Amino acid sequence: MKNSRIPFNWPHMTGNELQYIAEAHLNGRLAGDGPFTARCHRWIEQHTGCSKALLTHSCTAALEMIALLMDIRPGDEIIMPSYTFVSTANAFVLRGGVPVFVDIRTDTLNLDEALIEAAITPRTRAIAVVHYAGVACEMDTIMAIARKYGLAVVEDAAQGVMSTYKGRALGSIGQFGAYSFHETKNVISGEGGALLVNDPALNLRAEIIREKGTDRSRFFRGETDKYTWQEVGSSFLPGELIAAFLWAQLEQADRITQARLAAWDRYHERLKGLQESGAVRRPAVPEGCVHNAHMYYLVLSPQIDRQHVLDRFKSASIAAVFHYVPLHSSPAGLRYGRAHGSLEVTEAVSERLIRLPLWSGLTETQQEFVIKILSEAVGNRIN
Ligand SMILES: *Cc1c(COP(=O)(O)O)cnc(C)c1O
Repeated sequence: MKNSRIPFNWPHMTGNELQYIAEAHLNGRLAGDGPFTARCHRWIEQHTGCSKALLTHSCTAALEMIALLMDIRPGDEIIMPSYTFVSTANAFVLRGGVPVFVDIRTDTLNLDEALIEAAITPRTRAIAVVHYAGVACEMDTIMAIARKYGLAVVEDAAQGVMSTYKGRALGSIGQFGAYSFHETKNVISGEGGALLVNDPALNLRAEIIREKGTDRSRFFRGETDKYTWQEVGSSFLPGELIAAFLWAQLEQADRITQARLAAWDRYHERLKGLQESGAVRRPAVPEGCVHNAHMYYLVLSPQIDRQHVLDRFKSASIAAVFHYVPLHSSPAGLRYGRAHGSLEVTEAVSERLIRLPLWSGLTETQQEFVIKILSEAVGNRIN
């Protein structure tokens, strides 16, 4: 990494990845569900309290497994934010489900729990929440609504590894959770993810769906004398080399999170003045939420030209970026989903949000430079 350039993200390596990959290589265990996968499963189960953790090749794959586990049928409706990554919606649309897009809160940019009930119809099956930036949605309220109407809650916790809500790990609160270990996330394996099952009655079906619809896992545990095709499934598991890499990361997940938090806190403290001047709004972390510093975003005031700010960053060789283009007005969103009510917060935020460079190892000097360019670009000075 050249000093003159500040990338948006820089994948953090712990230093043990290659050693563990070499171990897997030496064991001659390359297919999935070897000893490293088992270690990762145990780690996730112990750290989150989920009833079953299963590594997948992506968070996208975990979400697709959830739609299969839920038996989503054509016409079933799933309430979700429009301000999210495409995988939250695609997973259900692949099974004929209809995303019903609801607006987000202005503070956390998470699904606005106050708007959910009005979007429920007799066809609603689930509420899919997204913990944006690793900051939890208002889960107590959302779980209560789900219980009242008999709906499932799916947590897209792609960004929420190591975050908690009232002491509970994100991904372990709804019926299902999905993690991402993509290179751009906090704890990584290049591509990678995990399904968290929180209803023990579904543990076995989750294993079957992940293993091409067979009860192969049960066979290897000696619980059956042959394995056969049980139901619709696919190959959702990663190879053992990916799991070996991931194990090196999970072992140090705490340290990785602390390093990111230090950088996040520094931005937050140093940008207080800019918020007070009215130029930007900093991220909000509600009481009871412990976040993992996945992202440092700012919502620019409407008077500020975002493109100008991004151009200034670009000229300074700083990679600051915007984020989601809303799903409800996208070509596929219009075809497969529908918007419930106006999505004005989603639309405003998607036009005004920027994300600053943040990774484990970002230096104070680099952060000061980012802050200097930002303050100049928005025409303010921070003391
Ligand atoms: C990154 C991300 C995904 C997709 O994760 P993959 O592991 O790349 O499939 C899904 N949802 C959200 C909210 C994400 O941030």
